[in-house]
Amino acid sequence: MGSVKIAEVRKSYGALEVLHGVSVDIADGEFTVLVGPSGCGKSTLLRMIAGLEAISGGEIAIDGKVVNNVAPKERDIAMVFQSYALYPHMTVEANMGFSLRLAGAPKPEIAKRVGEAARMLSLEPYLQRYPRHLSGGQRQRVAMGRAMVRNPKVFLFDEPLSNLDAKLRVQMRSEIKQNHQRLKTTTIYVTHDQIEAMTMADRIVVMHGGIVEQIGSPLELYDNPANLFVAGFIGSPS
Ligand code: ADP
Ligand code: MG
Repeated sequence: MGSVKIAEVRKSYGALEVLHGVSVDIADGEFTVLVGPSGCGKSTLLRMIAGLEAISGGEIAIDGKVVNNVAPKERDIAMVFQSYALYPHMTVEANMGFSLRLAGAPKPEIAKRVGEAARMLSLEPYLQRYPRHLSGGQRQRVAMGRAMVRNPKVFLFDEPLSNLDAKLRVQMRSEIKQNHQRLKTTTIYVTHDQIEAMTMADRIVVMHGGIVEQIGSPLELYDNPANLFVAGFIGSPS
């Protein structure tokens, strides 16, 4: 299943080390939020889990298997970015089925999985539309649909809602959580927004300057912040 073990992971760009030994154990099915100020290394860590960035030190294991040298497409992971990066010349249906077509899945199988994801994401009426004719929220749902049809062991989200207005952000948060409750896919969700972290997470990992400051449930962090940084960060309005 989709457990993720991050053990003493380091990352350097040239002489500059940006992650200084990060360890997090994520259980199968857990919704984990990585939160911390801009530049603290959240995206770098997520990209290493996805295999888009080489690991300078330590180990990442998915489902008990060390993946340091495993190519991204062998990792059974789907990533949703802040910029949705939909294919503009493809319909919603074609966008959602693209990775399955690439993988050579049979047409009826693709149609079935795209149909299921579209139903779950309320995208059925939009399957024949092109991305330019969709709202921001609908585009974000298509990006999620593209990840869902692959039925991965792990979902990675990198600030997926930061391009949306405040009202839509709140709505999408609860949609993402509802889908997680249905699918129970292990999810690692990156945000710099502490409210988002507090409302969405089973467990929060607070990062700061390339280290982990604290790991705990929203309540644990709120009641027992490990230090002034965590207290200030969790306690301040976004
Ligand atoms: P976050 O996602 O938390 O905002 P990042 O993981 O993007 O932070 O960046 C962490 C640090 O690594 C920052 O100081 C950033 O400038 C640096 N960094 C990120 N990517 C690169 C890169 N490709 N080359 C050099 N430095 C980078
Ligand atoms: Mg980032």
